[in-house]
Amino acid sequence: MITYKFRLYPTDAQARLMNDTIETCRLLYNDLLDDRTRTGARAFEQKRALTVHRRENKFLAAVHSQVLQDVVFRLDKAYGAFYAGLSRFPKFKRRGRYNSFTYPQPGGFRIVGKRLRLSKIGLVKVKLHRPIEGALKTCTIIRDIDQWYACISCETESRGFAALKGDRPVGVDVGLLNFATLSDGRAFENPRFLSGSVERIKSLQKQLSRKRKSSNKRVKVKVRLAKAWRKVRRQRDDFAHKVSAELASEYSTVVFEELKIPNMVKNHNLASAIMDASWGQLRRLTAYKAERRGGRVILVNPSGTSQKCSGCGAVVPKGLDERTHSCPSCNLVLDRDVNAARNILAAGLERARAEGQPLLIQRRRTSKFAPMKQEANAFRRW
Ligand SMILES: [Zn+2]
Repeated sequence: MITYKFRLYPTDAQARLMNDTIETCRLLYNDLLDDRTRTGARAFEQKRALTVHRRENKFLAAVHSQVLQDVVFRLDKAYGAFYAGLSRFPKFKRRGRYNSFTYPQPGGFRIVGKRLRLSKIGLVKVKLHRPIEGALKTCTIIRDIDQWYACISCETESRGFAALKGDRPVGVDVGLLNFATLSDGRAFENPRFLSGSVERIKSLQKQLSRKRKSSNKRVKVKVRLAKAWRKVRRQRDDFAHKVSAELASEYSTVVFEELKIPNMVKNHNLASAIMDASWGQLRRLTAYKAERRGGRVILVNPSGTSQKCSGCGAVVPKGLDERTHSCPSCNLVLDRDVNAARNILAAGLERARAEGQPLLIQRRRTSKFAPMKQEANAFRRW
């Protein structure tokens, strides 16, 4: 599965329709959430009820039926994440907190030349900056303040993917000093652009708090703030893409610590909140890219990785600002983060062993005669 993101250039009328669609989906989402909390209705029941409601409600009828069904699916996913302990209980979505809708099946959307045909919206101009490979699966339309995007996911065959360059395993420690430190001593510095953006966001937030509620100036500052956030998000994504591409191509096994549960950790420091999001992004992107190359990502429990000695296993307590690991038992002296990364790597390999996975993944042969099916099965095992 590969996802392409294309910029859309809707006409004013089309943008209005898309805004209306988002609003209808948002209200529906809130309705479904309310219904589910009160009656305990499950997704399949809600889907069935929705089909009936759509016949009577002109707002629902104006939206493609599968787009509405996808809203049920989204809520169900939010519940699933909650029950899995991954996020908080689903919340009602305020205006502006719901910014996309999805065509879950290729029937609702189609590419026609340089346009994207969206059911109930029309033919929307799209900038296809790269050719699409594979069969179209789903299409999500995203509103990003004043811009529109289409994320189109396609089913692809594993053939044609770049092979791994290296087949060593690596452990990755993430931190505020270095964005990522690897068990072999390499490090990715934190991007400098963030500090400037953080200052700008802080100053805009201050301005916003001084403006009167629902004044025109307040709306303007709000848009500026949203755009500043968008800039940070894009820089952050760009950076995570670069680092993950390098990890996924240089190493066959990449071990990370499991993520702290988002939302549950209250983070008042803006810069580290942004970094938290970047690390999550890094894990997701690396996993996605590694799978496409036939590699793997292993997640391990983060407890104690910085205190343990990677040489002998002794516990060497150290404060947050102690940069060097120095072991009194085996005399190992190592950068604090490299020591942690080595522990992470060891825990990952231990986990692989416990689960009966091989410790090393061989670099994939690039022979064009290599049977594709075998390749596909090779990474399905993970
Ligand atoms: Zn030691």
